[in-house]
Amino acid sequence: MVILVCLILGFTLYITDGIIITSSETQLRGVVEDNADEIDFDDGKIELDDVDFIKDHVTTLIYSHDGYLLAGSITGIEAFTAPLSDGVVTTFSVNDTNYLIYDLLVQERKYDSVFVRGILSVSELTNTIHQVFTGAFFSLPFFILLSGLGSFWIAKRSLLPLEMMMDTANEIRHSDDLSLRIGLKDGKDEIHRLGKTFDEMFSQLEQSFVSEKQFSSNVSHELRTPTAVILAQCQIGLEEESLENETRETLTTIQNQATKMKRLIANLLNLTRLESGVEHAEREEFNLSELIEIAVEEHESLIDTEMKIHTNIKDSIFMMLDYSMMLRILTNLIDNAIKYGKPKGTIEISLQENENTIELIVKDDGIGISKENQEKIFQRFFQVDSARSGDSEGSMGLGLSMVKQMVLLHDGTISVESEEGIGTSFTLTFPKIKYQN
Ligand code: ADP
Repeated sequence: MVILVCLILGFTLYITDGIIITSSETQLRGVVEDNADEIDFDDGKIELDDVDFIKDHVTTLIYSHDGYLLAGSITGIEAFTAPLSDGVVTTFSVNDTNYLIYDLLVQERKYDSVFVRGILSVSELTNTIHQVFTGAFFSLPFFILLSGLGSFWIAKRSLLPLEMMMDTANEIRHSDDLSLRIGLKDGKDEIHRLGKTFDEMFSQLEQSFVSEKQFSSNVSHELRTPTAVILAQCQIGLEEESLENETRETLTTIQNQATKMKRLIANLLNLTRLESGVEHAEREEFNLSELIEIAVEEHESLIDTEMKIHTNIKDSIFMMLDYSMMLRILTNLIDNAIKYGKPKGTIEISLQENENTIELIVKDDGIGISKENQEKIFQRFFQVDSARSGDSEGSMGLGLSMVKQMVLLHDGTISVESEEGIGTSFTLTFPKIKYQN
């Protein structure tokens, strides 16, 4: 923009200079020719009575044909020594002032002739124009800055609704809270209509999620009784001593599958209750460091490989937590680390605190998760490889969804870093208790 405006100013200045010179020339010629018409020769005597020696800023001097000044005067006349030349406009500079000079020969007979010289200063006008342009050049940055700030302000104001849309979308993404709305004021322009459409879409999505959760909850409730009946009947059948081996095996398989189904239903119900806000976190002040030590001890006794658990837990970190929920969070993460870790590998669990946050990390050196799947593991029923995880403890890809919900109920966040074949690390961040001094 600066370059463009400078170019325009430079070009205009160039054109203006040209126009001034051309119009000054025309003015000079006009006055000189008018004065030449007024000169009379009367028997060798020159009559100059009707000559206008100063007219339209043009000063007129009358010279004899051999160059003697006959009439007229100008300040600093000695300096105007330009040779007389008929019909030619020349430029002449005296004391840094530019003049246009035009000479015209007026001839009656061979020896009755005079030169009429017109002198016009062009510096005054061009100087004023140059001053105006210099002023424009120097004030230009200020106006450009002003217009830049103005444009920035206008652009920022008009982009505000888009920013609100982005913020809401991000908030929904991070908190999974579909009840959030952009909430733009009523407006007829495209952006406001877009915002309204988004809000309507969020409402619809929220509605379908609520219906879907309600459906899962209803189905789980309905499945609880038949599952309990199947399990009870299996139990009764297996207690029969006269049972043939084949029938016993069949009944045991049914019992195992029904037990898995019972766990799955319980998990699904848990998740729906967490997501729908039916289950609240009953938070009290607890020693998180101790709770982690307990969870680690319990899991160490369950490991049937050479896998080791290393801890780096800062003592006495207290937090407002729901004891059973936090235990479920830890159990899920450590279970996964054992399940997907190397048989001779190491699990590292660390608990540290910063100025405002508590950070819990559960890290393994196992199979890892690809970048593409890292985003999906918190979704319900997602399993990278169901053959590896599905058959143990009725796990069906619900664990991490529940962990995420429970972390959210503790005002925390959960993130994953992982590399295939190297290992996975889950980081949980919770706000620290603020004690009043
Ligand atoms: P699952 O019951 O299948 O373990 P989760 O919700 O706990 O379900 O985990 C979802 C998926 O995320 C798992 O199936 C597994 O593929 C992957 N996953 C979870 N934790 C780990 C881990 N520590 N290392 C590698 N993959 C993991």
